[in-house]
Amino acid sequence: MDDVNKRIIGGGGLKEDEAIETTLRPKWMHEYIGQDKAKNKLEIFIKAAKQRQEPIDHILLHGPPGLGKTTLAGIIANEMGVNIKITSGPAIERPSDLASILTNLTTGDVLFIDEIHRINRSVEEVLYPAMEDFALDIIVGKGPSARSLRIDLEHFTLIGATTRAGQLSSPLRDRFGVLLNLEIYDQDSLKTIVKRSADILKVRIDDMGAVEIARRSRGTPRIANRLLKRVRDYSEVMGDGYVDHEISKQGLDILEIDELGLDNTDIRIIKTIIENFGGGPVGIDTIAASTGEESITIEDVYEPYLLQIGFLTRTPRGRILTKRAYEHLGYIWRDDENR
Ligand code: ADP
Repeated sequence: MDDVNKRIIGGGGLKEDEAIETTLRPKWMHEYIGQDKAKNKLEIFIKAAKQRQEPIDHILLHGPPGLGKTTLAGIIANEMGVNIKITSGPAIERPSDLASILTNLTTGDVLFIDEIHRINRSVEEVLYPAMEDFALDIIVGKGPSARSLRIDLEHFTLIGATTRAGQLSSPLRDRFGVLLNLEIYDQDSLKTIVKRSADILKVRIDDMGAVEIARRSRGTPRIANRLLKRVRDYSEVMGDGYVDHEISKQGLDILEIDELGLDNTDIRIIKTIIENFGGGPVGIDTIAASTGEESITIEDVYEPYLLQIGFLTRTPRGRILTKRAYEHLGYIWRDDENR
């Protein structure tokens, strides 16, 4: 993946991009576009918790990167009228790091742990009593005089986010009261997101310009926002700053994002499955080894979108490409009974 594409598709970004991402983040539920299923459930939980004047139950958000997990955690905290503390699984190195975060929370506060599947085992064990009993068990002293001390914590809400729910241990997963799955966005929702972001960034854009960006955003708001910014750059240099259909198309073509939002890596993955494995079935690790990408990246970043647009199916024997994928890349599809 070249640098530009890495920035557009992956999670990492430029400082400027990160600052803009914060500006574009919806703060309230009514600004959060799409994800109706998750939103409807959450609205009920939030209302019920507020009526009981209790903190909301621990929530696990699951879905590919850039779909709005961090955003939703912030919205939940705002709607509940509480503070949010944001950290991530890999950032909490020792049990004592987590202990100090937990003891600093006040009643109702939200602790957001991104990439919670990457939390280490000893830290995870501190989380169990914290989530279940709002207590910390601390060992004081060493050797025979060591004893366990229980410290009470305020009733906080843990919101965990993960791209891989399957990697969470079951004791941890079971301690979440609410599990919410975020889905890849449809084009209409993405178009609304692009128009909303354009409004905030004061970019003039017409409907078809927004549709073109939405179509190529892989169902992901973070990518939609990044493409909008790049198209804005293009329109300012090559036109008068107005993003219409033509400018949008030209700007996106220059970024080598094809009509369905596929980039070089998607295309390499598809070509490899066709050329080396006859369209599949082929295992994810074999695809990874042949394309030079990590299996995790393929599963988290590339595969969800290829599944959504009907290019790929998952079977117990491995991944299989569909006729659509063949035809999109100009390969001839043969109906093969063994496939
Ligand atoms: P995640 O935590 O799942 O990786 P984020 O919450 O950081 O994703 O979202 C990435 C960006 O996408 C945010 O800056 C936000 O502007 C935008 N975004 C995500 N979901 C929505 C949504 N439902 N409506 C509008 N914008 C969204």
